[in-house]
Amino acid sequence: MREIEVPVLICGGSLVGMSAALFLGQHGIRALSVEYHRGTAIHPRAALANQRTIELFRNAGLEQIICQRSAEQFVQNGGIVAVETLRGGTTAEFIADLNEGVRDVSPCERVFLSQNALEPLLKERAVELGAEFRFATEVLSVETDSSGVIARLRDRDSGEESIVRAKYAIAADGAHSRIRQQLGMKMQGHPTFSHSVTIYFRANMRSLLQDKQWAVVYVNHPELRGFFRFEKPFESAFLVVNTSGDAAHPMTDVSTGLTTERALQFVHTALGADIPVTIESVMHWNARADVADRFRSGRVFLAGDSAHVMPPTGGFGGNTGVQDAHNLAWKLGMVLSGQAPEQLLDTYEAERAPVAAFTVEQAYTRYVVRTAPDLKPAGMQPFVQDLNIELGYIYRSPAIVTAAGDAGSVHMHPRESHGRPGTRAPHVWLERNGERLSTIDLFGRNFTLLGGPAAQEWARCAHIASAESKIVLDPICMGSDGIDDHGALPAAYGIEPSGCAIVRPDGFVGWRSTNAEPPSAGRLSSVLAQLTGAGS
Ligand SMILES: Cc1cc2nc3c(=O)[nH]c(=O)nc-3n(C[C@H](O)[C@H](O)[C@H](O)COP(=O)(O)OP(=O)(O)OC[C@H]3O[C@@H](n4cnc5c(N)ncnc54)[C@H](O)[C@@H]3O)c2cc1C
Repeated sequence: MREIEVPVLICGGSLVGMSAALFLGQHGIRALSVEYHRGTAIHPRAALANQRTIELFRNAGLEQIICQRSAEQFVQNGGIVAVETLRGGTTAEFIADLNEGVRDVSPCERVFLSQNALEPLLKERAVELGAEFRFATEVLSVETDSSGVIARLRDRDSGEESIVRAKYAIAADGAHSRIRQQLGMKMQGHPTFSHSVTIYFRANMRSLLQDKQWAVVYVNHPELRGFFRFEKPFESAFLVVNTSGDAAHPMTDVSTGLTTERALQFVHTALGADIPVTIESVMHWNARADVADRFRSGRVFLAGDSAHVMPPTGGFGGNTGVQDAHNLAWKLGMVLSGQAPEQLLDTYEAERAPVAAFTVEQAYTRYVVRTAPDLKPAGMQPFVQDLNIELGYIYRSPAIVTAAGDAGSVHMHPRESHGRPGTRAPHVWLERNGERLSTIDLFGRNFTLLGGPAAQEWARCAHIASAESKIVLDPICMGSDGIDDHGALPAAYGIEPSGCAIVRPDGFVGWRSTNAEPPSAGRLSSVLAQLTGAGS
């Protein structure tokens, strides 16, 4: 049997598998992604990419092309509303303008681009960075021991089997993850509460939508609950149907035995217009809100829907998966390059599992509030605003030097985090030699010591600590190296002009000295040891 060796095997090559391959490529790690389907996604599915996701893709050089494709496909800054029927007009408005009130917190905007349009861009860039994709190939099994991972693959066309030996594997194989099941990991939370369908259809909806700024339209009709998503030029869309019949006692299985006639009826009812409609396809899926009890088994890590499944209300599922992959990639990169001990990898679950649990509950809350009044709010988490979920989640693990007085919350508003260790490093506009850039653009590959205008001594210590520990720490002080922050950085990062913060390669603040201690290379060396897992 043919055998292949790669540093990292990725089981699954859809949104999260491709993102993992891309981010590993940015850290110089060659990955092989194995995908059952014959190519990139054929269905639109995920479309709403939040600001954090776009920041990560900006870092990979993809923001411009993503925005360009989005403008071709979607109404820009489209709103999220509810209707009884599309023709009948709005009954509620959840978000009037997708980016209103959030533009100051990030260099990036929220963007709609459907998965089938995004995946080819991710794939192309990942390949440029050294990734390999094998489509029409099934991962049959994955075994893990202390020295590595052995996976058995089968080519779907020839039936030929092969073996992959890898140091680590990422199971990005979706909600029904075979790898998760083989490794005995369980899902817990709110098991299936609806057997839902996504009905893809074509119809001329221009007269219904031309003067509207809508991207997602929830439908709360006496006969059905779900949502529409529309693409320009309003000749195609999908309708998700979660439940049908009486809203107080709904049918929660709209999937079993669904005929084309019934699907047509759903679309016509939701449109409230008897226009010609062609059903293109129907996707069947279960609405659940579940998180895996573990994110790691030996050398295998769960990422994306294999680790957490949530209803699409809020558009969080794909974003959370992409951000899992980003958290894991730099850690695998550092361990594989010998810059960090194995323990760093334990912090993946410690950091991502609480974020996933919080996000899943928030998606569930939105599902109950927006489309399923029959599911009683008892036991439901109170509604937390989107920005806290998208940009305000907080990590706590041995790879973060948590600040004194940390109250233990899993989220906060990104305007209030001020560089607190465990939060995403704030965005501040800077100028370098006349060019505008964000602080976010300074992070990605290495640790960065970000200092105020009087932190030169910390910068000098950073060079010494970096040389001693063999961990790259790039010092950048405001006012030095042609960088001008217009005086904004110290307040944004909660430091005095002589203070500094260390930002991890994933753009999260790992440690901060507001100005309470004298600069010391020894101190930075021990901080770096902790941030790379050696202190745990
Ligand atoms: C209608 C709808 C709308 C949504 N909208 C949004 C949105 O706007 N924003 C958002 O963030 N999220 C959204 N989501 C959620 C989002 O689609 C998912 O969270 C995301 O697609 C998960 O990506 P993934 O790569 O983890 O899993 P998947 O996309 O399920 O990919 C897993 C891949 O693994 C492959 N695979 C599985 N087993 C094997 C095997 N044994 N061997 C080889 N390959 C295998 C599969 O073929 C598949 O391609 C939406 C979901 C739905 C249903």
